[in-house]
This record gives sequence, structure tokens and C-alpha cells, in this order.
Amino acid sequence: MQRSLISLAVTALMGLSAAAPALAAAAPAAKAAQVTTQLPRTAVPTHYAVSLTPDAANSSFSASVTIALEIKQATNRLTLNASELKFSAANISAGPGKAVHAASKIDVNEEQQTATFHFAEALKPGSYQLKLDYTGVIGTQASGMFSLDYENGGAKKRALYTQFENSDARRVIPSWDEPFYKATFALEATVPAGQMAVSNMPVASTTKLADGRELVRFATSPKMSTYLLFFGLGEFERASAVEDGVELGVITQKGSLGQAQFALDSSRAVLKEYNDYFGVKYPLSKLDNVAAPGRSQFFGAMENWGAIFTFEYGILLDPRTATQSDKETAFLVAAHEMAHQWFGDLVTMAWWDDLWLNEGFASWMESRTTDRLHPEWNWSLRAVGTREGAMERDALATTHAIVQRINSVEQASQAFDAITYSKGESVIRMLENYVGDEAWRTGVRSYIAKHAYGNTVSDDLWREVEKAAHKPVTAIAHDFTLQPGVPLIRVSEAVCKNGQTTIQLTQGEYSKDQENKKPLSWRVPVIAQTVGGATVRTVVNGGKASMTLPGCGAVLVNAGQSGYYRTLYAPKAFAALTDSFATMPAIDQLGLLADSWSLGMAGLMPASGFMDLASKAPVDAAPQVWQRIANALGGLHAHFEGKPEQRAALDRYARARLAPVLARIGWTAAKDEAAPVANLRETLITTLGEVGDDGVIAEARRRYAAFATDKDALPAALRRPVLGVIASHADAATWDQLRAAAQAEQSTMIKSELYDLLGSANDKALAQRALELALTDEAGATASASIISHVSHGHPDLAFDFAIAHREQIEKKVDGSSRSRYFPALGGSSADPAMIGKLQAYAKQHLSADAQGDTKTAIAAIEYRIKVRSKRLPQIDAWLAQHQRG
Ligand SMILES: [Zn+2]
Repeated sequence: MQRSLISLAVTALMGLSAAAPALAAAAPAAKAAQVTTQLPRTAVPTHYAVSLTPDAANSSFSASVTIALEIKQATNRLTLNASELKFSAANISAGPGKAVHAASKIDVNEEQQTATFHFAEALKPGSYQLKLDYTGVIGTQASGMFSLDYENGGAKKRALYTQFENSDARRVIPSWDEPFYKATFALEATVPAGQMAVSNMPVASTTKLADGRELVRFATSPKMSTYLLFFGLGEFERASAVEDGVELGVITQKGSLGQAQFALDSSRAVLKEYNDYFGVKYPLSKLDNVAAPGRSQFFGAMENWGAIFTFEYGILLDPRTATQSDKETAFLVAAHEMAHQWFGDLVTMAWWDDLWLNEGFASWMESRTTDRLHPEWNWSLRAVGTREGAMERDALATTHAIVQRINSVEQASQAFDAITYSKGESVIRMLENYVGDEAWRTGVRSYIAKHAYGNTVSDDLWREVEKAAHKPVTAIAHDFTLQPGVPLIRVSEAVCKNGQTTIQLTQGEYSKDQENKKPLSWRVPVIAQTVGGATVRTVVNGGKASMTLPGCGAVLVNAGQSGYYRTLYAPKAFAALTDSFATMPAIDQLGLLADSWSLGMAGLMPASGFMDLASKAPVDAAPQVWQRIANALGGLHAHFEGKPEQRAALDRYARARLAPVLARIGWTAAKDEAAPVANLRETLITTLGEVGDDGVIAEARRRYAAFATDKDALPAALRRPVLGVIASHADAATWDQLRAAAQAEQSTMIKSELYDLLGSANDKALAQRALELALTDEAGATASASIISHVSHGHPDLAFDFAIAHREQIEKKVDGSSRSRYFPALGGSSADPAMIGKLQAYAKQHLSADAQGDTKTAIAAIEYRIKVRSKRLPQIDAWLAQHQRG
């Protein structure tokens, strides 16, 4: 699954509570016995034959399923997962022609999401067929089977899709809905003629029925987990191409197929790459990617085997609006979901404890593949940002280990967080770098080959990698995956003698909110150099290490930035690095900026260290370096909320630093422009708009006004940042104009984006109007939650209070899997101490103990923000005063 790309910035702050202790990976022999389960392990399903008849107009479906199963211990009842299903018949037999026994009683437990079928006589161990007839509901948010309504060519349309991860197959099929219970699936559906039905497998036959409908039968799937099943139905169109013997398809609403060409081309390139990398060919005969209008607060795309689901904004490129970053997103999403076809679908974690095996790996593979197949995007530089997203979450007391004990559906939903995805990705990057990419790939290949169609725990992967690498990688992997937190490597002042530099390293722990915490212990692979010199490797073990580096000069630790740790330099060592900042590789400039920012905000070094580095960046530094500086200055601007004088000084500095960079690259792309420059232009226009650059605001307004008569005034590459500036500085008349544009827009994708802009106004009265609009049906069933999220970025207290005041209405506009994180996320960017009490009250009243992890993390983030504002900002003030004197 790809996390929701829209709310990523907010959800990055969220995650599970540290209350759950790290679980030691199970020993292989005892693996099956240690897998957590909610269901009694008396029976094991082997095959589901499912027959579905959706009634889209009435938001319901009727169905029957025949489940082939093995009873392992004699029992007179069977318990399956089921949610919001109504049963009309339940029968069991020992097979065709054998006696059929009707269930004597059916117990439905909505809280446990189970149905128990009781039988008069005990069922002896052996093979059985359980047949269930039932009905269920079609929701409006993305879980279970759901509908998405949209307009196409002026006509109202409704399409159906399913979303089953993590635990929602039970809303459509009564099933052993846990990843460990793999089975084959044969799906058939009775559908209106003229609509396209899509599932994991290709259509095997279509039969016209007497009433004009069609019965579509899909081929039987291989053995797989329930959460990977998919069904879609609507007025779709499909394009396809054959690559390595596999039919790759993209499926869109009618009229949008032309916008999916880049995604189709990307999936061809990625399939070739993965067939080679994994050493096991993609095992199904087709792989579709289904684009759907709308959005979810939980996810952006889902790796259903053979039928990936992606919201339109993550796959389609509309020539009117598509930017360089949209192109990158479309490629990344394809690379991520396709990596899951192996890591997740073919080989599946035994239980949600090891969810990171799916998500950390797919995230790492997505980055690796993007960098490899699109070297012109220079994607490897993004590794620092990914690591930052993880570390800033991981340094709060509410963090958790990558491998964690999951006991409930609620906890599983919360596990889709920055630790699972971004720390998982960063730790894999470090370990791959430690063992070497060849050995890593050999290990991955034998892991996939050995466990195909099966289930695993993390140690199954480490065993294969260690065998290939002949290096003790498991011990390091355990340190970073079974315990939470971020190592801190302190670097002594350098001593140079006879052309060699010696440094002492000490391992501590980087914590943002536990000042006197006794550090945990890690074995940390470290790479260091004198700037420009040869690199030297060591593993800091037992808390200390000494390194001797060739050459003299500034010492750089974590050279290349593959390590998952923070580096804190002694003062003179940091000053030396500041002096050589301009000559360092961009990846290390990014790493140094990130460390100095975070350590400064945490009070472990002067907060001015980051400002010293930022002032050394040359105007022609890498675009990604300037993006990082612009984002940090934008973050400081937000921190100075309510302090007009200090904010004015910061804004002056930000404009003085950033305006020359924008002037250098201009508003119009040069013909031979490098791709990352386009991203930088977006960032600079946005940030300069935030810090009140009159020239940028005037130019944005000029282009926006001219756009009414001259479409060239706002080319796709500039449309989003310019509209962003217009929306945030909007007055009532402009806001009304944007709303009229949203109402008139025909494209479902652009329409949602325009509605989001209405939530971006700095003006409080307009923010309030956006909130009220979100309560109506005007923007569409899945767009309202996103509008409120946008309001919360600038007005967290207003958005949270409003959402709580209308909680029941708003809960219906959020998918169930993200409810426990949606509300805390709205308040999570507040700096008002009162918000802490409000969040606690919300959690106490509305969330079970299992579902409070995101709330606790939101509170920790607010407490930290308050501390940063009172303790660190004065240092930034002082630095600005000193550097703007005269
Ligand atoms: Zn994923």
C-alpha cells in the first residue's frame, strides 16, 4: 500500500504508541505457533468460490461463497471473520454428493468482526465445503466494497471498487481474513451489460443472462492472502501492452485513458527490472493498474495481486496540470505497488508484526528503481528526506520498533506509519550498503525463491542475506528493527598527524523529549572521510570507536548518508565542515543540513548551526539543497506565528536568500533544464509566497488574472504553485472565484485539487467557510476530509474544534481505517497547550486503548513544538539580528 500522498506531511507525525514492546522475531521452527491470530486455528481454508451480485444503485450486494477447508481438530463450530454481513443460509458438507448439514445457529459478533457457525454434530478432522449465502453493504469510503461517484461528460456515474488491507475482506467475503491463511480464489460476478468488471485474474468467460445482465467468471488465483483480493466494476476503458510475456494494463474512467500512457510505459520498464532483480518472474498472466477518482485519508494506492488500485492523482498525468513531481509520483507509485507483487503478494508477512517486510521493502525498492531507471531525476538525494521523516518520528518517546507486536485490527491500521515505511526503507539502505548490493540481491533472490506462496517473519530474510554476505548482518538488523529509536554518534575534535586524521566516536541516543534517557545500544555501521578524501568504514560496537582517516581537513561522518543515525560534531569540527560546505557532494550537504537542523531544535547544538550552513550554500547549489533550505525557512516562518517582529526578520532573510535562486532559474523552464530544477521552482514560488515576497505574489496574481483569457499565462508546470499563492493570500472575492472554478471543473482529479485550495486560505473567515463547505456534499464524498486537512495546516485549532463539533458527520467522510489518526492529525500541528487536553479528551471519549497511538504521538509533537518555540527560536532571532545588522 502507498500511504495517502496528500496527507503524507501530516501523517508523517503520526504513529503507534511505544507501549507495545518490541517482539523478538520468532525462531523458525516455532514460527507458525507464534503467529498472532484472532481466529481459532481449528480449520484452514484452501479455496474460496465467490459469487457476487452488486447493486450499485442501492449500495448493497448479495453473494454466496463456497469455502473448501480442512478441519484440523474435531469441532462443532467454525468461526470466520465477517463484518456488516447478513447471512441467509449456512451449510456444510464433506464434499459433493455427501450429506449437507445446515448450521443450527449463527452468532454474529460485530465488535470482534466474526461470525460463528454452530453445527448439531461435531465435525471430524477432514475436508469440507462450507457454503454461505449473505448480503452486504457498499460504502462511500475506501474500505470493503465501496462506490465512487463522479461526473463524466456531464452525466453522473458510479463505479465500484474494493479495498481490503488491512482487514476489510471480511466486509465482502466471510473468510479467515488474516494474512497467514493463504488460499486460492475463484470469483464470479453478475454485472450490468456494458460495464467492465476487473479482478486479480483475467476474465475466463462472459455469459449473457436472460435479463440482459452478464455473468463474468475470472480465472482462479494462485494461493494468496485475503487482503490482496480485488473487484472493480464501472464504465471503464483499458489500454494494455505485453512485456516479458505478461499483459500489463491500465484501466481508467472513460475518456481518461490518454492520461495513463506514462504509467503504462513505466510499468513495462519496472516489470523488466523486477523480473531480473528478484530472479523469479512475475507469476500471473496479467497485471492491471486501476485508476479511480477520489481519495482516501489512509492510502494512495494498493498492491492487489494482478490488479493494483491507484487513485487518479497517483497515476494519471493531465496535460493541463501535470508537473515534474506528478510524473515522479506516477512512476514511484507504480514501482512501489509492483515491488509488492513479490514482496507482499508472492511472499507475505505471517502477521502484521512484520508489516515492514512489505512496506519498508517496497519503499526501498521504489526509490532504488526510480533512481536506476530515471537517473536524470537524481532520486538518490531523496534518501535524506526519507530518513528525516523517520528519525523525527523515531526520536519521540511515543515511537515503536520496526517489528512490533500487533494485537488488533486498530493497531494494524496504525502500523502504516513513518516507522514502518521510512525507517524500514532507511534501515534496508544502510544494511544493503553494509553487505554490498550484490550480496543483498543474492539474499533477496533466495528469500523470494524459498518462500514463494508462503508466509515469513523478518529473520527469514536476514538468514538469506547473511548466508549471501558472509557478514554478521543479523545482529545489526536486530539492533535497528527490534528496538526503537535513533542512535546519536558524537564526533570528537579531529587530530591530524603525519597526513592522517584521528577521531573518536561515542554512541548515544538522539531523543527529542527525554533529556536524561539512558541510551539504548546499537551496532552502528559508520562511513567517514576527510572531505574529498577516501572513505573508511567501521562498526561502532559497545558504544565507542576510533577511526583514522587519510588526509587532513574537515571530517565528515556518515559520508554518503546511508547510515540511520544522527551525527553530532564537536564545535571546531562543525565549524570546519561549515567552511567546506560549498565543496561537499549534495547528498552530504543535505545530511549536514538535516542533522544540524534537528540537533539544533533539540538543543543538542546551537540552533544557529543550520543558519550558518544555509548562509554558505552557493546560489548554484543542487536544486534539492535549495529545496531543503526553503522548506526549513518556511518551517521557521510557521514557528514565528504570533511574533510579527521576529517573523518579519526571518522573512527578510528568507527573501534575501531565496529570491536570487528563483531569479537565476526564472519562471520559465529553460529548454535543457534538469528535471529537479522544475521541482525547485515550485518550492521557491510557494515559499517566497509564504514569506511575503512582493515580486512573487504580484507575478502570481498577474498570471492568474491573465489566465482567464490566455491559457499560456499558467502552463502546467506553474499552475499548482501559482494557485497555491493565490489561494493562501485570497480575499473573499478570489475565494469565490476559486470555488466557481471548482464547481465548473469537469476533471474529477483537478476538481478535488481546486476544492483543497479553498482550505488553504490564510484568512480565518475564509478557512471557516471552507470548513462549512466540507460539511456539504458539494465537493464529493471523499473530498471533504481533505479540505478539512488543508485548513488544519494553517489553522489547526480551528479545524480540530470544527471537526469535533461535527464529529459524527465528519466520521462518515473518512475511511474507517484512518479514523483514529484523522482527528489527531488535524490538531497535531497546533502549538497551543490547550490542544493537548482537547486531544486527550477526544481519545478518552472516542477511541479504544488500542487506537490511541496516533493521538499520543500528536500530543508529543505539540509538546515538542512548544518547547522549540520557547527555547530555540530566540537563538534564531539572535542569529538573524547579528546577520542583518547594518
Ligand atoms: Zn506499500
